[in-house]
Amino acid sequence: MYNSRKKPLEEIPEEITAIWSCTNETCNGWMRDNFAFSSQPTCPQCQSEMVKGEKKLAVLVNTSPNHAKQ
Ligand SMILES: [Zn+2]
Repeated sequence: MYNSRKKPLEEIPEEITAIWSCTNETCNGWMRDNFAFSSQPTCPQCQSEMVKGEKKLAVLVNTSPNHAKQ
């Protein structure tokens, strides 16, 4: 047996992910929707309101739900 398919640089897959982004224009805070612990999260950096949006992000393969709580 031999490995004929040599993988070059492995590409990190990206997908459109639901996120929350900070409404404060001077702040670039955002979080993944599945990391948000309430239905209306506030920005962890400046405590402003957050709005739901989308972002193209690298797919997280090893998501542990425990990481959401700090
Ligand atoms: Zn913010």
